[in-house]
Amino acid sequence: MSRRKARPARTSRPARAAAPAPAPVTAESPCPCGLAAAYGACCGRFHAGPATAPTAALLMRSRYSAFVVRDEGYLLRTWAPETRPGEVDFDPGMRWAGLEIEETGDGTAFHQHGTVTFRARFSHDGEPGELHERSRFARHDGAWVYVDGDFLD
Ligand SMILES: [Zn+2]
Repeated sequence: MSRRKARPARTSRPARAAAPAPAPVTAESPCPCGLAAAYGACCGRFHAGPATAPTAALLMRSRYSAFVVRDEGYLLRTWAPETRPGEVDFDPGMRWAGLEIEETGDGTAFHQHGTVTFRARFSHDGEPGELHERSRFARHDGAWVYVDGDFLD
């Protein structure tokens, strides 16, 4: 997923009070990606490296978690060079609220490409929203990277 494309449209309503700061994610916290594991044993081990996500779905989860913990370095190094932005624009009004993987296509240890269809819930300046996207992943130097995605209804 690409937050640059996912930015919700601004409304003309007055801004609400700033969203409260999210609770810090520690190694012992439940992983933001939704799997029943602590962050340090789940997506955190990929963020810390050198371990890399073995499947496109786990890379998707780890990138979602990287948006939650605002790990720009991880997002950039797991972005395909041909689509990678110069920087990641973390919107201070954005609070990611949960990830649901709906479907995966290929993307296993035996594939070079894969797709992951997901819903990511968020609130933006207090307004709830949902990103529904089918993302494409590929291997780059052996490791899974995010290529791009299509928004779904
Ligand atoms: Zn995780």
